[in-house]
Amino acid sequence: MNKVAHYLQEHLVGQVLTSPDVRRHFATDASIFSVVPAVVVYPRNENDVRKTARFTWQLAERGRVIPITARGGGSDQSGAAIGPGVILSFTAHLNRILELDGKSGNVVVEPGINYAKLQQTLHTHSRFLPPYPSSIEYSTIGGAIANNAAGEKSVKYGATRNFVRQLRVVLANGEVIETRRLSKRELNKKLGLATFEGEVYRNLDALIEENGSAIQDSTLSVTLNGAGYDLASVKRKDGSFDLTPLIVGSQGTLGIVTEATMETEVHNPHTTLVAAMFDDIQVAEQTVFELRRSRDMPSAIEMVDEHLLKFVSDHSPNLLKDVLPKPLPKMVLFIEFDNQIDRIQKRLTKKTVKLLDKYQVPYIVETDPQKKEELWKMRDSAALALSYAEKSARALPVIEDGVVPVERIREFLEAIYELGKKHAFNPITWGHIGDGNVHVQPFFDLAQVGDRQKIFRIIEEFYATVINFGGSTSAANNDGRLRALYLRDLYGEQVYELFAKVKQIFDPYGTLNAGVKIGVAPEDIKPLIRQEYSLGHRYDHMPRS
Ligand SMILES: Cc1cc2nc3c(=O)[nH]c(=O)nc-3n(C[C@H](O)[C@H](O)[C@H](O)COP(=O)(O)OP(=O)(O)OC[C@H]3O[C@@H](n4cnc5c(N)ncnc54)[C@H](O)[C@@H]3O)c2cc1C
Repeated sequence: MNKVAHYLQEHLVGQVLTSPDVRRHFATDASIFSVVPAVVVYPRNENDVRKTARFTWQLAERGRVIPITARGGGSDQSGAAIGPGVILSFTAHLNRILELDGKSGNVVVEPGINYAKLQQTLHTHSRFLPPYPSSIEYSTIGGAIANNAAGEKSVKYGATRNFVRQLRVVLANGEVIETRRLSKRELNKKLGLATFEGEVYRNLDALIEENGSAIQDSTLSVTLNGAGYDLASVKRKDGSFDLTPLIVGSQGTLGIVTEATMETEVHNPHTTLVAAMFDDIQVAEQTVFELRRSRDMPSAIEMVDEHLLKFVSDHSPNLLKDVLPKPLPKMVLFIEFDNQIDRIQKRLTKKTVKLLDKYQVPYIVETDPQKKEELWKMRDSAALALSYAEKSARALPVIEDGVVPVERIREFLEAIYELGKKHAFNPITWGHIGDGNVHVQPFFDLAQVGDRQKIFRIIEEFYATVINFGGSTSAANNDGRLRALYLRDLYGEQVYELFAKVKQIFDPYGTLNAGVKIGVAPEDIKPLIRQEYSLGHRYDHMPRS
């Protein structure tokens, strides 16, 4: 591998590092896995990325496969931001805002820009990127694109894919392409190219034409989905064609993003927040249905359950001293309206309050920024569970992102609580209930063989349940290594084979984030499980000079 590092050092402008401490740092992301990379590269420009891809392609042509893993903040919970070959870390240099169009609100960025920093800049222009993840402070836009990230505002605005208009992508062989929606005529031009790009367009177009109905039927009945490849959005009935939705959510397995043009929304910080306390989950579920039926969707429908509230009240009673209701309710819903027109916001709040009155549910309505923040603290208290250590046990991201059709949310919660009872873990649950997506991170100790075995039993049962409910194994955290095991069950054999062909078209030698999404078996990932779990990786390693 020294030879590889040496070649890259000779040919790249950015830093190429092989020291044990740097490699150790990049051996973990926020998943339960660990893989030590051979080389870490901080590309200084797109040309560095291009040259790295070209070099690994040439080695692969001669039978030596060295995978490239693109990396942003390394906050991936599925094990997709680690790999044994070359890590391309974008946070050091490729982290700029290149253009911000005040009129359209479109922003052109490099992938390594910190998401929170970008959001701050957008706020100063009264704009924002709605599908930000809760890891916004320590993740990048490149990671959000590659994972098709979503968050609390997605119930109204959708996931990242909705906001990516155009991408610059380095293909497996080092060619650079620009993706955007092409007309039928523009597609025909691409189909005639004598390059790898032309080959990708030709093979993909043929695949879509031959499997049109299977692809259309593959769409899952959930409002957020991070699993698989979004083949259904590539070609439209009018013959237009766009690789962008396919690259979004592909976790660096089809190409490496070097630039993104994103659409943004008008930002209105003057929101109204309704916090409602439910003693009956069925009533909470009914409230969610009725809110979703409204033509004006709330900008957030979030929840925390009684297990989380109890955990907070036991472990950090002062944290929510003034806001935590007593006795603890079964669930608190956080319903937010961000409509620009004050009159509309008031009308929607009134309607919500009427609904809650109908069910005799206690609530608080707030528009004061400080008081709203106090209430949001209840929702954000999930962070306490995530950072808490129970001896050596930690809250593990193994079943953290299941999503079901909203109509099945109560059954889903009951199944989670049942699983907790069966396997003796506290089923602390919170998340994006308006999208049927909740987070659960059971406390286990990765150093204990018994716990490791139990984790796999829980994973098996959880994902079987989610699939049985017509849901998806991941709303936004994607497949990675962990959930790649369930893609076949989720989509069925035929669609899985199409995904495998897509991977083959873009990455014939398997140099792009190998071991992620496609072709993953339990025996591949079990040896990669860490002995300990922590989130120390979040602060990415920067060049020392
Ligand atoms: C506590 C916690 C809370 C979280 N909450 C959310 C949430 O609310 N919503 C959500 O969606 N996710 C959430 N996540 C998961 C994760 O933080 C997000 O998906 C985030 O967007 C990943 O960004 P990152 O910069 O850390 O990416 P990384 O972890 O570095 O990478 C993620 C994936 O993107 C690929 N990638 C990175 N850059 C590029 C590039 N330039 N080109 C191609 N591929 C690239 C990587 O190879 C990897 O497959 C959470 C994680 C944690 C630890």
